[in-house]
Amino acid sequence: MAVQTETSNKFLNYINGEWVASNTNEVNTNTNPANTDDVVGQIQKSSREDLDKAVTSAKGAKKEWKELSGAQRGQYLYKVADILEGRLEEVAECMTREMGKTFPEAKGETARGVAILRYYAGEGMRKVGDVIPSTDKDALMFTTRAPLGVVGVITPWNFPVAIPMWKTAPALIYGNTVVLKPATEAAVTCAKLFECFEEAGLPAGVINMVTGPGSVIGQGIAENPDVNGITFTGSNTVGKNIGQEALGRGAKYQLEMGGKNPVIVAPDADIDLAVEATISGGLRSTGQKCTATSRVIVHSDVYDEFKEKLVAKVKEITVGNGLNDGIWMGPSASESQLNTVLSYIEKGREEGTLLCGGERLSGGEYDKGYFVAPTVFEDIKSEATIAQEEIFGPVLALMKVDDMEEAIELANDVEYGLSASIFTTNIQKMLSFVNDMDAGLVRVNAESAGVELQAPFGGMKQSSSHSREQGEAAKEFFTSIKTVFVK
Ligand code: NAD
Repeated sequence: MAVQTETSNKFLNYINGEWVASNTNEVNTNTNPANTDDVVGQIQKSSREDLDKAVTSAKGAKKEWKELSGAQRGQYLYKVADILEGRLEEVAECMTREMGKTFPEAKGETARGVAILRYYAGEGMRKVGDVIPSTDKDALMFTTRAPLGVVGVITPWNFPVAIPMWKTAPALIYGNTVVLKPATEAAVTCAKLFECFEEAGLPAGVINMVTGPGSVIGQGIAENPDVNGITFTGSNTVGKNIGQEALGRGAKYQLEMGGKNPVIVAPDADIDLAVEATISGGLRSTGQKCTATSRVIVHSDVYDEFKEKLVAKVKEITVGNGLNDGIWMGPSASESQLNTVLSYIEKGREEGTLLCGGERLSGGEYDKGYFVAPTVFEDIKSEATIAQEEIFGPVLALMKVDDMEEAIELANDVEYGLSASIFTTNIQKMLSFVNDMDAGLVRVNAESAGVELQAPFGGMKQSSSHSREQGEAAKEFFTSIKTVFVK
């Protein structure tokens, strides 16, 4: 058996309780997007055969894991949480080096991973069903829940700890076994999570990780008849394909996809608060959050004041290697992500007026990474490409409106419906927004990004398959209801 060591930068697949190399003998080398001379690690470029072994091992472990009590499964999750907490700084540093988010943000995310594990560990002790009165006085009728079986987990690179955790922890606590395929760009960070699972001593086969190309491993999960449920977070194109595959073979699926999230600033808003929240919601993590603010719809009465304050603050943002003190925004996570953002910025120059940023940063340390200046455009029409398509970068588009009805119409005028915010001190405006906004997360006087781990998370329209993750909602996806009649 190959041994995973902390000093090695070679990371293997985790299958049936062992670290194993792929049969392809090929690897991907992940480098730091803030400094491409910094090699973070090598991960396996696996094959379908590797994946099939992982699925077989997860299938073999189903019975033993399902037969444990929820409390027993919970004890394992508490252990993983303690181990991850002990390695918090190391895992966070790896995350910053691998995908670029700043070290404080990476620590916050890893702490969230720990909290998610503890939350679901506790779920093992909570109720799973209801007693329903039967019309037959001699009968007992109730519901209970069964695990799906083997769950395939496919995750993106932008939250390399939180997203794998908020899918894997509920899958496990409700009695499923797991095969996880992380995004290649963040797979070293994910391997470190698996070291925590290994150390906690989960039975072999209960949790497996296979790294490799989405078109091979991700597609393989979607097609494998022994995978009973698939939970995916990522882009729309990939998500829809997975949904079709799963539907075709009767597997349960859950898709969390893109966003094009608006903020509305009403004439009675606290402007300073709205500016702070727009910057934080839109530009933190270099705009690489599915809930990131990208369209800023501002009432004409306060437009000039808001714009001036926003642009002044955006110009103060410090951009650089997220491991360094005083850096507020890191690089784009990869060269291809950088190029995508730069091409949207070019489009923005044609479609509106550039207020600040608008370029790749260069010179000195910047030349070693994928840095782009935080960018603000105005005079953007609703039909503009940069007002419609998800950019996943530090780009804000300002739009001016003359009344609040128009503001909500504009806010809804996209194919996505993940998150939306309003800034207002008027209760009627808050309520209209809550009622009329087509989004899964509707936030008042708070930035568009962010949700607490015990609350349902997911979107409307093209943002999601309309199921919800997190909190109690996770139980709906990771289990099937059984209606029991006893006489
Ligand atoms: P992506 O769709 O390219 O990749 C996501 C995962 O799918 C990766 O593991 C990838 O390897 C895999 N994959 C790629 N091709 C595949 C295929 N043909 N079959 C199966 N799997 C395949 O997305 P990304 O670039 O990693 O992440 C960014 C996207 O994720 C953005 O669109 C963002 O909005 C979305 N996202 C959504 C949420 C949410 O909860 N709604 C959260 C974070 C990110």
